[in-house]
Amino acid sequence: MNFIRKLPIPQDIKAQFPLKTEWVKKREETVEELRKVFRGESDRFVLIIGPCSADNADAVLAYLEKLARVNEQVRDKLLIIPRIYTNKPRTTGEGYKGMLHQPDPASRPDMLRGIIAIRELHRTALADYGFTCADEMLYPENHRYLSDLLAYNAVGARSVENQQHRLTASGLDVPVGMKNPTGGDMQVLMNSVHAAQCAHTFLYRGWEVHSDGNPYAHAILRGYVDYTGKCVSNYHYEDLVRLHGLYGESKLHNPAVIIDTNHANSGKQYLEQIRIAKDVVYSRNHNGDIRSLVKGLMIESYLEDGAQKIGENVFGKSITDPCLGWEKSKELILKIADTLE
Ligand code: PEP
Ligand code: MN
Repeated sequence: MNFIRKLPIPQDIKAQFPLKTEWVKKREETVEELRKVFRGESDRFVLIIGPCSADNADAVLAYLEKLARVNEQVRDKLLIIPRIYTNKPRTTGEGYKGMLHQPDPASRPDMLRGIIAIRELHRTALADYGFTCADEMLYPENHRYLSDLLAYNAVGARSVENQQHRLTASGLDVPVGMKNPTGGDMQVLMNSVHAAQCAHTFLYRGWEVHSDGNPYAHAILRGYVDYTGKCVSNYHYEDLVRLHGLYGESKLHNPAVIIDTNHANSGKQYLEQIRIAKDVVYSRNHNGDIRSLVKGLMIESYLEDGAQKIGENVFGKSITDPCLGWEKSKELILKIADTLE
């Protein structure tokens, strides 16, 4: 390994790119709204919605502008938290690793430019559109570059068994969704929620730190891949009843799940997200236990339908997982708001 250059610590980056008091207040309001949902004190249904990867700031901001307009129509029923995913886990380790590594997907990695680019994007989402967003906590040691901006963190399917992810999640004061692992083991999922809800002492960025445990850590169901490589979904009514049972046997705080409508739940057939979202809303309307358990959906959505290769340069079309385009996304958001009971 070659050490290229020492990078500024999160404190320095935060001082260089600070937040106005009004933005801090706005973020705290959103986070508190979200905490209320997870405590069962609010009936708003959470939509974590946006592109698989935030590959282009202009396209993401154009998306947020449209989303902000729809948000005005549905805000009494839905709590929209845009997905601005700035770092991407890759199945084989190869491919685009996100804006953090490559602020320009066609150019070589530049971590300093990347750190600044992701902070600027999340900061603009808050400043210009009032959105406090979600990101994946792929690298726990990087979390604090964005910790004052995010409302929600997800721990990905490939990271959820990792000790450092679990311990870091236990120290956050915002909801953290733990995804089921790629192999689908529900016990691993419940163990990860348990670990994130407990207090820990551990090593973090060269410090000995103590966490109090995060009572807002919860499950995300994203489907899984079986040993033959086939995608198996886990959003169905029976899956939700089973998860409700697992929570019932546990001593976990705030039983909750977010359903990821893409990934192995759709088999990346992105249009299936429409049907899956409606199915989950139906299950929720049908059963009071499921209603209190299912707090929302995670939907992969962008300006254009589908996905493209890097270099094709279609504005607002995903360069990672295929996404639902804007018109269909808007229709789906309105439909969800309309059918929720
Ligand atoms: C994602 O949300 O785009 C993602 C990579 O999720 P998972 O960890 O479920 O594969
Ligand atoms: Mn994805």
